[in-house]
Amino acid sequence: MFRRRKSIEVDVGGVKIGSDYPIVVQSMTNTDTADVERTVEQICELEAAGSELVRVTVNTDEAALAVPEIVDRLAEKGSEIPVIGDFHYNGHLLLTRHRECALRLAKYRINPGNVGMGRHWDRNFAQMIEVAIEHKKSVRIGVNWGSLDQKLLARLMDENAERPDPKDSAEVMREAIVLSCLESAHAAEEIGLPHNQIILSAKVSSVPELVSIYRSLGRRCDYPLHLGLTEAGMGDRGIVASAAGLAVLLEEGIGDTIRVSLTPDPGAPRSREVLVAQQVLQVLGIRHFVPQVSACPGCGRTTSTFFQQLANQVQSYLTEAIAQWRSTYPGVEALTVAVMGCVVNGPGESKQADIGISLPGTGEEPKAPVYVDGRHFVTLKGSRIAEDFIEVLAQYVEERFGRES
Ligand code: SF4
Repeated sequence: MFRRRKSIEVDVGGVKIGSDYPIVVQSMTNTDTADVERTVEQICELEAAGSELVRVTVNTDEAALAVPEIVDRLAEKGSEIPVIGDFHYNGHLLLTRHRECALRLAKYRINPGNVGMGRHWDRNFAQMIEVAIEHKKSVRIGVNWGSLDQKLLARLMDENAERPDPKDSAEVMREAIVLSCLESAHAAEEIGLPHNQIILSAKVSSVPELVSIYRSLGRRCDYPLHLGLTEAGMGDRGIVASAAGLAVLLEEGIGDTIRVSLTPDPGAPRSREVLVAQQVLQVLGIRHFVPQVSACPGCGRTTSTFFQQLANQVQSYLTEAIAQWRSTYPGVEALTVAVMGCVVNGPGESKQADIGISLPGTGEEPKAPVYVDGRHFVTLKGSRIAEDFIEVLAQYVEERFGRES
């Protein structure tokens, strides 16, 4: 049974994160932030896909100068998506030099491993936190194992070497990642940043390490946690690794906001990462975004590809319709549809869904019973089974969800 870890509530530009608020899906652009047009275009694409927060890199004066224009252009298009600034190395300079940028961003992501060395760390970190305090902005302390605070790691390695029973270096590394988050958050609060303006993340690229680190973080603080596997990779590997790591943690109630960091194929839409993040939450039954089609994998009992085509057709129909349905048919996101290949599991699975169709397998009589709310509703035959099923589906949505509007 899903039970959410207790955390405080943090406001990010009007989007509530943590506590009992829905787990938020976020994404990050990969355009040059100084290129206002392309960045706005990509933010709109990510928002249209369902991203609820979007992060842009703010790495140069040009990027910082572009931020207010980006936010204005989004507002002109009717978008209110909070824009988060990602800072490394020169965040203290950019945030103090560019007041409008600091004001218009909804949150600052600060990587404590990329703030500066020695006394510069204290001064640079304090400078960014003071800007956040002045403008009442939340901050994500975002540790990444690839840029871990080397001074902290060296300190823990030395302390470990002194122990009578030294831990292995991977364990020390995990502890360094967790402590980098916690000590930086503590330092931010010492400077004056309110407790409820802090979110933590600790990203690594190994799934078992990710799970172990977030379990530890989850036990040791009540800040909301942003989850994500860093450098998840391309294609199937990136999706599977992210889903595996996030699913374990989310199922344990850990995680208040998520991002799936995929390396997109050249020319592929950036919004894929948003859709994958939504799917992770949806298959776990945590949030619903688009009605789901369950389809059997097919086997020797169904040698035609008709049922795969029908499953695709139905999913495409639902994906296209959902944008309009969300306002017309409240709750329709949770609709479940089954498209099954033969009589073995077809009727049973179709009865479990809100609406399902069991297609005839090889050698079966060419008819397709449709089940609605667990009961046989109609049997379709002939060359228009796909069109007829979609018609029955549309009618079901209208009758069931239209009444609730
Ligand atoms: S429902 Fe039928 S076609 Fe589909 S996998 Fe099961 S046995 Fe095979």
